[in-house]
Amino acid sequence: MRTLRDLDPRGKRVLVRVDYNVPVQDGKVQDETRIQESLPTLRHLLAGGASLILLSHLGRPKGPDPKYSLAPVAEALKAYLPSVRFVPHPPGSEEAFQEVQGLSPGEVALLENVRFEPGEEKNDPELAARYARLGEAFVLDAFGSAHRAHASVVGVARLLPAYAGFLMEKEVRALSRLLQAPERPYAVVLGGAKVSDKIGVIESLLPRIDRLFIGGAMAFTFLKALGGEVGKSLVEEDRLDLARDLLRRAEALGVQVHLPQDVVAAEAIAPGVETRIFPARAIPVPYMGLDIGPRTQEAFAEALKGAKTVFWNGPMGVFEVPPFDQGTLAVGRAIAALEGAFSVVGGGDSVAAVNRLGLKERFGHVSTGGGASLEFLEKGTLPGIEVLE
Ligand code: ADP
Ligand code: MG
Repeated sequence: MRTLRDLDPRGKRVLVRVDYNVPVQDGKVQDETRIQESLPTLRHLLAGGASLILLSHLGRPKGPDPKYSLAPVAEALKAYLPSVRFVPHPPGSEEAFQEVQGLSPGEVALLENVRFEPGEEKNDPELAARYARLGEAFVLDAFGSAHRAHASVVGVARLLPAYAGFLMEKEVRALSRLLQAPERPYAVVLGGAKVSDKIGVIESLLPRIDRLFIGGAMAFTFLKALGGEVGKSLVEEDRLDLARDLLRRAEALGVQVHLPQDVVAAEAIAPGVETRIFPARAIPVPYMGLDIGPRTQEAFAEALKGAKTVFWNGPMGVFEVPPFDQGTLAVGRAIAALEGAFSVVGGGDSVAAVNRLGLKERFGHVSTGGGASLEFLEKGTLPGIEVLE
């Protein structure tokens, strides 16, 4: 990848694709982590004498929608950088183009949500060309979006001299360690909603790893595939054969697979709902498994011991609704407690768990990309990386 070290930014207008897809409530940014993660790149370019034009998406708007405006992000960014202005026009528009013409070195313009442009997700070449005329060089630092072949990620990178930002580099370096000669034993912990989201990464990692831990809703597809009664728990009925096949392949490769032994179950997903503990393969209707149980928490922690490389993606339960956050927090604690291990966590809920525990420093790398980190581990590259090579 070409990196910032290959770019002399002096006197240039540099277009930077960042990932400011942050939670916003009542016009205020609730978590500034992604803004902070972008600062090393932005400060480096500003110190080098550039002016900056920032592009980002926020949420999943269908066309222009004030609910998804980046205006609150511009307000938050002002606390970190001296001269920030917000450009409230669609980022590919003539008005936006005119507004950034007058930028002086040291100044920063944050453009409105790229997903307000209908051509963004289609990677419309005409939109990419309108982005490209905004600047003289392009820096991709939105690792969390680097698996999307969108106009502001891939399209524009083909039209300007394009470079990886520092965050992008840091992510690729850390995740590459999970693919290239990882120290063994190597453990992978997967959770979250769906097996179908994780098939690719399981298939790619199975031949490299020693232990696989499966929690979250996706565990129930495996448990049912093994003949378990899982009550009303989420199951992907059309993936039962695939789950059996993955378990067979794991066995053939000598990978130890750890599934939940017990679960915390309830009749509904609601705070304060009455909960019961059941064996994971004997959950009666109308209960659904919503978190790994206390025995599983202990068993997972015990079986993680000694691991030298760990990758974790996805919550062990319905993390956003207490008390179903306990399994995820327990797994976070267990990984953080490993001595001398290189551990990587990716994915919204699992990263939130690590932050809530205050254990970020105990991880080798906390990835800003959920889907992007999974796709990188599956394919060894991403559309946003290929375009910088
Ligand atoms: P991440 O956001 O960490 O990448 P996913 O998007 O794959 O992870 O999955 C997160 C979702 O999975 C959460 O919304 C969580 O509520 C849900 N989930 C986890 N375990 C269960 C479960 N047992 N039953 C229902 N939903 C679950
Ligand atoms: Mg998610």
